[in-house]
Amino acid sequence: MSADPVAIARDLLRCPSVTPAEGGALTFVEGILKTAGFTVHRMTFREPGTDDVENLYARIGAAKPNLVFAGHTDVVPPGDEKTWKHPPFSGEVTNGELYGRGAVDMKGGIACAIAAVLDHLNHHGGKRKGSISFLITGDEEGIAVNGTPKLLKWAAEHGESFDHCILGEPSNQNELGDTIKIGRRGSLNGHLIVTGKQGHVAYPQRADNPIRGLTALIAALQSEPLDQGSAQFAPSHLEFTTVDVGNKTVNLIPGEARARFNIRFNDKHTLDSLKKLIEQRAAKASGGKIKFAFRWEPSNAGVFVTKSGPFTELVANAVAEVTGRKPELSTTGGTSDARFITHYCPVVEFGLVGQTMHAVDERVPIADLRALTAIYSKIIDRYFGS
Ligand SMILES: [Zn+2]
Repeated sequence: MSADPVAIARDLLRCPSVTPAEGGALTFVEGILKTAGFTVHRMTFREPGTDDVENLYARIGAAKPNLVFAGHTDVVPPGDEKTWKHPPFSGEVTNGELYGRGAVDMKGGIACAIAAVLDHLNHHGGKRKGSISFLITGDEEGIAVNGTPKLLKWAAEHGESFDHCILGEPSNQNELGDTIKIGRRGSLNGHLIVTGKQGHVAYPQRADNPIRGLTALIAALQSEPLDQGSAQFAPSHLEFTTVDVGNKTVNLIPGEARARFNIRFNDKHTLDSLKKLIEQRAAKASGGKIKFAFRWEPSNAGVFVTKSGPFTELVANAVAEVTGRKPELSTTGGTSDARFITHYCPVVEFGLVGQTMHAVDERVPIADLRALTAIYSKIIDRYFGS
């Protein structure tokens, strides 16, 4: 008998695991994996000023290669539950669709990976070749400090090594099989602060209005592209998100003006090289006449890309065989935990269709859960050559 991804997904959806609450979700995963013969580790990571978060690492087999399924069991809040057709933590199935917060992002994806792995173990009487692991965090939707980065570090310190990873985030745009994510842009937030000299508007010669300097620097930073894009990425993009002076007085030239911006950047940059580039461009535009400073917010959102090769081909072929679609290898969208995993092994993201993620009435077609399980099964069988 094969494992049922729908039943697993329902049970997971019934755990109210809104970040940082565990909600019973990891305990449920632990139970299934232990029964299947996995060695399961649970750990809680802490850091001052942040919520404690529970995490899980499980492995079956001791040999290489170690194929890892990664993901998160935490979900974003459901919002006003009354606006949902079915309660967000009830796991209701109607008209061939399973409803619930996390249905596509990404308890459904985790359920499919578990079902595929259980089937693999059933067919082969346990794990005979290589290893399979699960790297599951409860801290993806939050600030992601006590989740995957610490989990990866923990694993490395305990002698665990990974060969390839599949992160089951909802990678598809419209239909299952349309997109595999092989990279994500990085994200960096900065503040630009221009200092002038406060004074009376009637005597501008005695003051120095920082708004002039700020608008000049904003214009300069937006005028020149950061790059022309790369083989696998669109051009990087800088966008100002707010400009603040906070001056309530009509006859006062303010002493300071600030702006805030975000940059989504590709693999032509690192966080450090990007900061340097922006600072250099501002310095050039200022001509030494504008007093400015940058304040960079800490970022753990570097760029990641996994080069096309046998592993991405293996995944793409499995997707095509099950869905009949040739998936696009994409690097679009926001950041994900793949940005951390990429430092340990090649990682691709493939999961369900993202359309209802974070929305009211998040739901997944039962047919998609079955198809994704079939895709993961094919990937596992091909990967281990069985
Ligand atoms: Zn997610």
